[in-house]
Amino acid sequence: MHRRRFLGGGLAAVAGANLSGGRSAAQRPMPMFDPIGTITPIRALVDRIFRITVCLRPFRAQGPRLDVERVGRKLVVHNYGHGGSGWSLSWGSAEIAVRKAMMAHPREIAVIGAGAIGLTSAIAAQRAGARVTIYARDRFPDVPSARATGSWTPDSRIAMADAAGPEFGSLWSVMAHESYARWQSFVGLAGQPVLWSDRYTLSDLPPDEMRAELRRHDVAGFAHFSDLIEDISPRSQLFGPGAHPFPTRYALRNSQMTFNIAALAHQLTQDFLAAGGRFEAVTFEQPSDLGRLREKVVINCTGYGARALFRDESVRPVRGQIAWLLPQSTVDYGLFYRNVSVLGRSDGIVVQDMGPDDRFGLDSADERPDREAAEASVRRIAELFGAMAS
Ligand SMILES: Cc1cc2nc3c(=O)[nH]c(=O)nc-3n(C[C@H](O)[C@H](O)[C@H](O)COP(=O)(O)OP(=O)(O)OC[C@H]3O[C@@H](n4cnc5c(N)ncnc54)[C@H](O)[C@@H]3O)c2cc1C
Repeated sequence: MHRRRFLGGGLAAVAGANLSGGRSAAQRPMPMFDPIGTITPIRALVDRIFRITVCLRPFRAQGPRLDVERVGRKLVVHNYGHGGSGWSLSWGSAEIAVRKAMMAHPREIAVIGAGAIGLTSAIAAQRAGARVTIYARDRFPDVPSARATGSWTPDSRIAMADAAGPEFGSLWSVMAHESYARWQSFVGLAGQPVLWSDRYTLSDLPPDEMRAELRRHDVAGFAHFSDLIEDISPRSQLFGPGAHPFPTRYALRNSQMTFNIAALAHQLTQDFLAAGGRFEAVTFEQPSDLGRLREKVVINCTGYGARALFRDESVRPVRGQIAWLLPQSTVDYGLFYRNVSVLGRSDGIVVQDMGPDDRFGLDSADERPDREAAEASVRRIAELFGAMAS
């Protein structure tokens, strides 16, 4: 969940008695024919937390590393450092890496890493005509990519505004558009690996003040590019007091892509194997270890692992913790309330404290779960539904 996705985009419609602002009927926005339906309350009880996971977003101030380097006799195409946007940008980033790899006309390609970036790069390389083996220390569900929220968040912690060069925005836009298109081909498949769902930002503040609060939240200097994908971003709808079922004054609704990561990882793995792909469990200690591989061309998708493997300190950790509540089949929406983000997925209800501002978790490599913080965020959601019931 990413509150910018709501507030950054335009407003398509406004519903609610107090929002016409004295405008004449002709000036008022289109009437709302799409009211908020039944909202199943989330059973936000701490004894329904079935696990707490921590993951480090692989953040690089200049954006993901996508250059090509010679390591001994291997041609290595890097594809790592996607911050909080790895799932969202994976296909577009894979296309760029595979195009660079195919310039050497390899019949075989080695992909290092089996997370979101490794799997999508491997499938893209197969489609380009190569035989692909994935070499990785861990596979799903043991990779960090399995611990993501599962939202379309293509510019979440993807670069710093002052470090990413001017051409990065255009590259990002290409990656985002390509990924977005590719993810649509997973919508409607059995097991719903990718689906569209409603998200609600709940607040007592009117939209202008919500936006001002968002600006106060942005202190780290991360780059934001949502205006470059307005053509593929559904507009938000604002529901005013009395026009929605939540206990806050305002509810902003937006449609957003959800990645049901358990089903999606399964689907990607099956697709890779069905096209003749192979996995090998290998840990590389240093770049020269790549010399042991049969393949001459390697795509390096080691995520945060690249920091140690390639001694690349430009990869910085951004810690994120998720409390997983038992799934409820009719909780298929997401919400953002008092800095806590919640997303109902088929494999669990994902509850995440987003912190007071966007420095939250930056440069923290502490992977120990914090039970107290997890319970506190679940209790905040319990308060919301408690107020709704009363
Ligand atoms: C809390 C949280 C929420 C997130 N939510 C979202 C979201 O909603 N949407 C979104 O788009 N992104 C999200 N992200 C970001 C996303 O999860 C990452 O950008 C993405 O998982 C990175 O994928 P990856 O394949 O590069 O890395 P990883 O998943 O870390 O995979 C790396 C692979 O490389 C292997 N490897 C590493 N080092 C070595 C080595 N030395 N030898 C052999 N193998 C090695 C690993 O075993 C693994 O297989 C979130 C991140 C966090 C932390």
